[in-house]
Amino acid sequence: MSLKRLLKQAFLKVGALYYNSSGSKVIYYHDIHDRKKYTDMSTPIELFKKHIDILRECDYRPVAEIKNREKEVEITFDDGFRGIYENFSFFVDNNIPVRIFLISGSIGEKEYLEKTQIEQMLETGLLTVGSHTVSHNNLDNMDEITAVKELKESKKALEDMFGREIKTLCFPRGKFSDRTIRLAFELGYEKLYSCLPGNYHVPFKKGLVNRSLVQHADEAEFKKILQGADKIFFNRYLKQQYRPGET
Ligand SMILES: [Zn+2]
Repeated sequence: MSLKRLLKQAFLKVGALYYNSSGSKVIYYHDIHDRKKYTDMSTPIELFKKHIDILRECDYRPVAEIKNREKEVEITFDDGFRGIYENFSFFVDNNIPVRIFLISGSIGEKEYLEKTQIEQMLETGLLTVGSHTVSHNNLDNMDEITAVKELKESKKALEDMFGREIKTLCFPRGKFSDRTIRLAFELGYEKLYSCLPGNYHVPFKKGLVNRSLVQHADEAEFKKILQGADKIFFNRYLKQQYRPGET
C-alpha cells in the first residue's frame, strides 16, 4: 500500500473518533465499470456493490433527495461517463436513486453518456440530473461574463434536452468562490454541490452541499467515511477548493 493511502487511513481512524455521527450525507463517484473502464476515477461494480451492502448494514437509506437529518444518503456521480449506463440494471434491480452532474458540452462525446442513454435512465424514475457546467473548466479562473455563460447555457441545454428544470449545480473540479455562489443563485440554481466533506445539514454556507468522495474507498474506509470521519480533511480541502470573496 502507498504511503499516501496509509496516511489517509490513519487520518480516517482519528477522524472516526472525533466526528462519529449518523447524519445524512451525500457521497460521490465518477463512474462504475464491469469490464470496460471509461476513466481512472471509475469504481469497479463489485466495490460499488460492497458500498451498497455497507449502507444497508449501517441502516443508511439511499434517497433521491435528503429530507431527514439522519441515516439518509444521496448517491451522486460527476461528469456523466458511460459506465453508469452500462451498469444501470444494478440500480434498477435494487431501486437505488442516483444523481448525475452532466457536463452539457460533453454529452455524446467519446466516453461520455449519450442523450438517449440519459433519457432511458430518466424513464426509470431513479435518475436526477444536475449541471456540471458546459466545459468543466474552473469557474473562478474566468471573467464574470464567461462564468455566467457556463452556468446559464448548461442549465438551459439540459432543460431543453430533458424537459425538466435544473436546479442543482456541481462545481467543476470542486473549485468555487463567493462570486460563483452569487452567480449560481442569481441564475436560478438552488443547491450547489461542493467537494467539501461533512454532514448534509451542516453546510459550510447556505445552499452549499457537502459531499464525500468514496470512489476508491475500500470497505473499512467507506464505513468510516459514512460515519463522518473524512470531516478531518475539511480545512485542507477548503483551502484547496474555496477562494473567498469575489474573484
Ligand atoms: Zn467533474
